[in-house]
Amino acid sequence: MIKNIIKNLLFLILLIMSFSAAKADMNDPLQSRINPGIVAKLFPSAELLGAPTGTPPYIPVYGTDDNVTIDETILAKWRIEFLQVEAREPSAEETNAKIASLKKTGFKKEIGFLFSTYETTKAKGYSGDHFDIIVGLKTDGRLAGSVIVELHEPMICPTCVPQTKLTALHDTFKGANINRRVNLNSGTGGGRGYDGVTGATISATLTTNGIITAAKKILRQTGLGANEGPFYLDVDSFLDYNWSELVNWGGVVGKSFTNEGILKELNPETEDYIRNPDRNFTTIYAGLASPASVGKNIFGGKWYSYHVSQLATGDNLLVVLGSGLYSWKKNDYKRVSLVQKDKKWKFTKNEALKATALRIKEKPNLSQVGLLRIPKEWGFDPLEKWSLEFSVNEKFVNGSFRLNYELPKQLITGDPVALEDAGLRPIKTAFLGLIRESKLSGWQSEWAKQDYSIIILFILLILLTLFLVFQKRLTSNKNIHNYIRFGFLTITLTWLGWIAQAQLSIVNIISYAQALVQGKGYTQFLFEPLICIIFIYTLFSLILLGRGVFCGWLCPFGALQEIVYKFGRLVKFPELNIPFWLNERLWVLKYIILMVIAVTIIIGNDWSYSLIEIEPFKTAITSYFDRSLPYVIYAGILIFIGLSTERFFCRFMCPLGAVLAFLGRFHIFDMIPRRPECGNPCHLCEKSCPVQAIAPSGKINMNECFQCLDCEVEYYDDSRCPPLIFEKKAIQKIPQN
Ligand code: SF4
Ligand code: SF4
Repeated sequence: MIKNIIKNLLFLILLIMSFSAAKADMNDPLQSRINPGIVAKLFPSAELLGAPTGTPPYIPVYGTDDNVTIDETILAKWRIEFLQVEAREPSAEETNAKIASLKKTGFKKEIGFLFSTYETTKAKGYSGDHFDIIVGLKTDGRLAGSVIVELHEPMICPTCVPQTKLTALHDTFKGANINRRVNLNSGTGGGRGYDGVTGATISATLTTNGIITAAKKILRQTGLGANEGPFYLDVDSFLDYNWSELVNWGGVVGKSFTNEGILKELNPETEDYIRNPDRNFTTIYAGLASPASVGKNIFGGKWYSYHVSQLATGDNLLVVLGSGLYSWKKNDYKRVSLVQKDKKWKFTKNEALKATALRIKEKPNLSQVGLLRIPKEWGFDPLEKWSLEFSVNEKFVNGSFRLNYELPKQLITGDPVALEDAGLRPIKTAFLGLIRESKLSGWQSEWAKQDYSIIILFILLILLTLFLVFQKRLTSNKNIHNYIRFGFLTITLTWLGWIAQAQLSIVNIISYAQALVQGKGYTQFLFEPLICIIFIYTLFSLILLGRGVFCGWLCPFGALQEIVYKFGRLVKFPELNIPFWLNERLWVLKYIILMVIAVTIIIGNDWSYSLIEIEPFKTAITSYFDRSLPYVIYAGILIFIGLSTERFFCRFMCPLGAVLAFLGRFHIFDMIPRRPECGNPCHLCEKSCPVQAIAPSGKINMNECFQCLDCEVEYYDDSRCPPLIFEKKAIQKIPQN
């Protein structure tokens, strides 16, 4: 009676729990969610915030820049306001006073934008709930950073994965160029990928993705997004090269002439005598220094950043290195021209930047180091071939020679599909070569990455299905049953649990239930292919057979307990036999635990996700016991109890087991066979059940049955099952004709 009341209450609570998720704060206007602390973190030099603009909204951030000239549009606006208020044009003195006051206080320049992932992309976390992360984007298209304002993720909490870890991951994307493809896995832009947030990798993936996607959207909306084709110059990736490797790779190209050599090249008809014919006339190298793989290698990280910071958006940087008699810098760089197709641009000292010393490994002996800015306005295309033309005007030789440059393919990046189609990247395939990796979406890539694991899991599930379908054959031989079961549980623990990290948890069930009832969508769950497959299989097995298929065969922590118990028997560890009356009452405990968790979720108490720690899965399975001492001690105690009592945690404490037992009540088939003699007078199966799921009456409680099939081994054993022995003897007594 009490049990039934508890179970029905539980159902009600689960339903209400699914509906509960009132998150009203992020629906407040954007400006009211941005406090001075957020502004200071993302834009330390901010002085003023503008009004929210556009749909989705973003807030312009203004900072002081004394060097900037007064923008005529600001003055024009001021003039209109003046006209409206004063009903006359401002005088020249008043205009000058306004300009002076603007200059005095420093002109407020737009330095970036603030916006939220919530309004911009409506991105969702693993829980299926939206999150509110305020993102800062600089006007040069680089990420200023992000601040989490509201986030409700199951595995992000002080006692699970602290939010600071997630923030640390997001911070590594600071400076990422949103105009470029941001590699979320390797964390281009300084990011280090998601592995730093072990235990909450899906939340890490989804939130980072939300930040980058929102930033891209706002960049387009503000009109600051680069208007690029499918390909662009990869300035961010870095390949570490020494000088000879850089030259062989094509990052820089060079030529070398002796006095005699340059004469032959430029004035072959001259037969004049030249002095020092073997002396080096020039050794000269050039290349595009804007990509980190070239510039950072040549100047070192610190100075490369400095040089690049002097470029305006869309500018390119050229490095020219030389030695010898010929000085290409002479006449304020007028000796050098850039040639591309039918265009030719002459450099002047305006394009020259102050170069720093070479810091490349195996440094060449090139003393003339120069950096030239290629202004965006020139219309130079860094992806196309180009040449540098050097004019020579010496006493003994006149003319010009060229260095021809072709960008290494690796420095061309862009849409992965287009890159492969153009032959700029080898085509990568996934899923045993059946699918092109570049065409996959986020969650599809996860499935592709785990293709072998998915195949192994399918093999395991097919085997398990065969065991259950042909359980009579499996249980007809005690040894075969023992070997198969022990082998399967070992794979469940070691591969499924410790290696593939596919431990289903109450967190998954809560998230799925909320998504189902609140219509939150399911895409986020697809990021965990193994958990997804196990969940679907478990759902079907629950409907058909009840809780036992998952708990008895597919739960890594359940397998760990069973293996530990078997070990206990092997080493003759004292066994603790719980009397059936007590066992029956203790079953209720796990439902109470589940109810407490459910109630804390419903009332929105922060304790809910700490209470989930009652599951030792994270400690014993996904974190390999590498957690703080209290968690390790707790998991250790449960495992120690498991030495003397089979599956103590499963039977009496597991909230996931409680949900499955509750839902499994409605299963269709009872596959464990029974005889009229089961329970009266025979108790053999009852004694063989390791979890006391068989009542003294002989009835099996399928909510507590783990489908281990131990009882079925007895059931088919005609040397142990009394009715079978009796039947066999009766047959033997029948006289044979
Ligand atoms: S009761 Fe819990 S720990 Fe035990 S097998 Fe089932 S889910 Fe796993
Ligand atoms: S022995 Fe039988 S009743 Fe007991 S858990 Fe195993 S299959 Fe279920």
